[in-house]
Amino acid sequence: MRYETIQAKTLLSKPIYGDSWFHSNRSMNAYRGCEHGCVYCDGHCQYYRIDNFYTHIRVKENAPKILRRELERMKYRSQSKLQTSSLVRFLDKDDASRVIDQSPRKIIIGISGGVSDAYQPAEGQYEISRQVLETVLDFRMPVFVLTKSDLVLRDLDLLKEIHKHAFANVCFSITLHDEETKAIFEPKSSTTWERFEALKQIRKAGLFGGIQAVPIIPGIGDSVENMQGLAKDAKKARAEYILFAGMTLKPGRQKEYFFNVVHHQMSEAYDLLQDIYANNHTYGHPIFERLPVNVMVQGYKICKQVGISDRSIRHMMPTEPEANVQVLNALLDLVFYRSMTLGKPRQSWKPYHELAIQIEKGVLNLAELYKQGLLEKQLGMSPKMTHVIEEILQTGTCQALANAQRELAQRAEKINV
Ligand code: SF4
Repeated sequence: MRYETIQAKTLLSKPIYGDSWFHSNRSMNAYRGCEHGCVYCDGHCQYYRIDNFYTHIRVKENAPKILRRELERMKYRSQSKLQTSSLVRFLDKDDASRVIDQSPRKIIIGISGGVSDAYQPAEGQYEISRQVLETVLDFRMPVFVLTKSDLVLRDLDLLKEIHKHAFANVCFSITLHDEETKAIFEPKSSTTWERFEALKQIRKAGLFGGIQAVPIIPGIGDSVENMQGLAKDAKKARAEYILFAGMTLKPGRQKEYFFNVVHHQMSEAYDLLQDIYANNHTYGHPIFERLPVNVMVQGYKICKQVGISDRSIRHMMPTEPEANVQVLNALLDLVFYRSMTLGKPRQSWKPYHELAIQIEKGVLNLAELYKQGLLEKQLGMSPKMTHVIEEILQTGTCQALANAQRELAQRAEKINV
């Protein structure tokens, strides 16, 4: 294994809003490359241009310093933006003071990006993620951590402090219940058992936390036995949710490496998987009709049976109105179900997604606007979308979401679990 320290020029990703999977607003990688060696890893594909992805780990030694610099800049930008906001000018002075949150803008920082695990073995030596958390704490920002390692428990002290001032949401990626199969596909991460045990401690410490069961490998991880086992253990660990989703395999080295391992270590699944990914789709999508199981629908049914949420949760930031987060969660659930689970066309979920983005970006207090009868006027929305917000504010859900859940339940009925 080769570790190389490098100097990053920038760290945080571009702003992300309306993310219905992880609910972070900026992500970052303290490392490039990942020693955990997951056979299906998307970070391994050529697109990211990281040669020897599993064996040459670039350590961004100055990541905490760069993060501090970028957060300082954002603080100034958010304050000056607030002064010149078109909304401030648009509203009467009295209205403005009631509906606008004047604190510096908070963002949810995701400290595991797509090309590394923040708690891979190198972190034990370099402690970059720990210093990143110290910086996050200084700025009182909320944090989202997604990892396959129980090393994250080392930083429980800092995470608890962050949770006091904002929130810390620590989620584990767990996809295979059986340890032998896990050892083939995720050879160097913590065992499945260790990750569930770590989640128990995270929850016991009062932090937010859940399971991202992603990716579920078709023909291997999509068995009822595997998915039920994960959901039951997630429930035992007091996970807030378990989100199931399928696997993409981009053509090139990601796909080649994956099939090489399957060929040598799980040859009975080889032909089926070749068939499913025969399309060489640019983004690695499978041929959906050839999938043995729709893992999202099956996951939905299993979650209902086990009594755990199938959806990740958008938690409330310190400066955010509670009503906005309630609306956001309902809208993002709707977007996720329509787009990912039910496979509806973009136009059927895009307006809801745009509305979620507008709410997450904005500084409006929806409950106040609703009380003042200003929703439609101030948000510039159609009466239909205004009604959706009103429904959610009154009942916590809306007809469109209830319809999506009903359709999903009907599809789930047809699956034998
Ligand atoms: S832990 Fe994540 S980043 Fe690391 S190899 Fe596995 S999938 Fe890739």
